[in-house]
Amino acid sequence: MKIQIISLFPEMISPVLETSMLWKAQEKGIVEYRYINLRDFGIGPRKTVDDTPYGGGDGMLLKPEPLFAAVEYAKSQDPDALVYLMTPRGERFIQRRAVDIAGEAKGMIFVCGRYEGYDERIISLVDRQISIGDFVLTGGELAAMTVVDAVVRLLPGVLGGAQSAEIESFSHGDNLEFPQYTRPETFRDMAVPEVLLSGNHAEIERWRQAQSRAQHNKYKS
Ligand code: SAM
Repeated sequence: MKIQIISLFPEMISPVLETSMLWKAQEKGIVEYRYINLRDFGIGPRKTVDDTPYGGGDGMLLKPEPLFAAVEYAKSQDPDALVYLMTPRGERFIQRRAVDIAGEAKGMIFVCGRYEGYDERIISLVDRQISIGDFVLTGGELAAMTVVDAVVRLLPGVLGGAQSAEIESFSHGDNLEFPQYTRPETFRDMAVPEVLLSGNHAEIERWRQAQSRAQHNKYKS
């Protein structure tokens, strides 16, 4: 699956995608990352990509010509790919969306805005607008990396244990994972809950479910 990211700052993105599980996913041939520098599609000798907004206002907007050319180039590399525009006004990105996108098993093209945003006409080429939360970032790169990370780890063959993605937080609605412990049994006077050492799988399961509910009540309600 090709994952193409259109950005003015692709050097921000590659160190993240070329690390750990995301890198391994590419090594295994499950995904292929491509970084498309919007500047390469800039206009004139200065490779201009931005301009002032019609109607006045602060800041600059990404111009339509470079944006269209970059998205059309990405589409030519993977015609069936879906185009995702990173924007604070988009559909809120939650685990369910990550599962949907992973399930679509189609290539992805991410468009990262910058400055005050982009010329609105770009949405004629966009399949989905995505927000990673109700706050404003300086650019779409962190948002795109967040979505790529959450989606790629769900693709078959990426996570080690098949169970890993099934029992974790948000895998079933808004459940949260129960607390987990590893060796040593006691650390700085804090002991691992006894039930986890009991070997009684039914009891452990009951404890974990109760803890999941408690986490939810404590942090999400
Ligand atoms: N003027 C825009 C507004 O008020 O909505 C904000 C522009 S922001 C400074 C620049 C770019 O960062 C946006 O075009 C978008 O691509 C990206 N961005 C910022 N916050 C985001 C968020 N919460 N989710 C996804 N992308 C975001």
